[in-house]
Amino acid sequence: MARKVIVVGEVRSGELRNVSFEAVAAGKVVADGGEVVGVLLGESVTDLANQLIHYGVDRVVVVNHPELKSFTTDAHQQALLQVFDLENPEAVILGHTALGKDVSPRLAMKLNAGLISDVISIEIQGDEPVFTRPIYSGKAFEKKKINEGVLFATIRPNNIASLAKDETRCGDVSTLTVDLKNLRTIIKEIVQKSTGGVDLTEAKVVIAGGRGVKSSEGFKPLQDLANLLGGAVGASRGACDADYCDYSLQIGQTGKVVTPDLYFAVGISGAIQHLAGMSNSKTIVAINKDPEAPIFEVADYGIVGDLFEVVPLLIEELKAVHS
Ligand code: FAD
Repeated sequence: MARKVIVVGEVRSGELRNVSFEAVAAGKVVADGGEVVGVLLGESVTDLANQLIHYGVDRVVVVNHPELKSFTTDAHQQALLQVFDLENPEAVILGHTALGKDVSPRLAMKLNAGLISDVISIEIQGDEPVFTRPIYSGKAFEKKKINEGVLFATIRPNNIASLAKDETRCGDVSTLTVDLKNLRTIIKEIVQKSTGGVDLTEAKVVIAGGRGVKSSEGFKPLQDLANLLGGAVGASRGACDADYCDYSLQIGQTGKVVTPDLYFAVGISGAIQHLAGMSNSKTIVAINKDPEAPIFEVADYGIVGDLFEVVPLLIEELKAVHS
């Protein structure tokens, strides 16, 4: 059954995040032949609209407003509600990101709609979309559907492949002027904690360090390895608690969930709370000097050894391959 789907694109530092294109692919499945409308919110984001069209949306509604330059719950919620009023979607897809996790339950509640969060795959059964999501920290999976009303879903980055980019695709781009009232949060300044680079939750390669790395200095070779592989550095809570790195790098039950193609666990024991954030990675490589470390139970490749010897050797080999 064809349905009208809105896909909310996510803009960060003037660029569309990859998860936006994955959300478009998800939107196409849910639409089942119906119209997929992209929505872009920001201060001046019209130029990004065609990218969404190249990845599969039929048309784009752009909302430019100074208060949408950075994400705030109030402004984004109000703007999206005004778009929904106009468009009457049957389904809304967002990334399972800080933005999506924040606004989707609020929007779903306002519309008396159902929300399925952290979706990793979608299939059409009969006429209806059925969503698969991990439960119990990734130890099991459940399939869910929503029987009536507008359907909201957030999709986990790096799980649903985006469609091939087609720069010949065309579509209408319209702008909507919104009225944002009584905003309780005004962003004055953003102080960037990390130095930028690849976003951890979207990275195809993650090099994560644990307490075994022993110091913030010890993270430097991990960063070198990440740079060589075009990846991002992550950490266990053990490393964050020990102040070797910032909590924004923490992966796990109370940190970020990542599903890269390649995950290196360096000096990480493999506590269940850590596994909750990375066990769905496609290929896991563990480097640990303890052959009994639980991380080896989930690893595809295990290297028993001292990370201070193994990581420099890996870097050397990779440099030799690249030169
Ligand atoms: P450790 O368990 O101390 O492991 C260090 C590892 O390094 C060991 O296996 C050791 O053999 C190895 N090692 C040491 N030296 C070397 C060397 N030179 N070369 C190679 N290997 C070496 N943890 C998370 O990661 N993420 C979470 O989100 C999270 N949430 C939690 C939520 C709750 C409610 C609780 C109770 C705990 C949570 N934890 C979380 C903590 C978790 O239980 C573990 O304590 C933590 O993951 C351990 O971090 P670690 O593996 O770096 O440290």
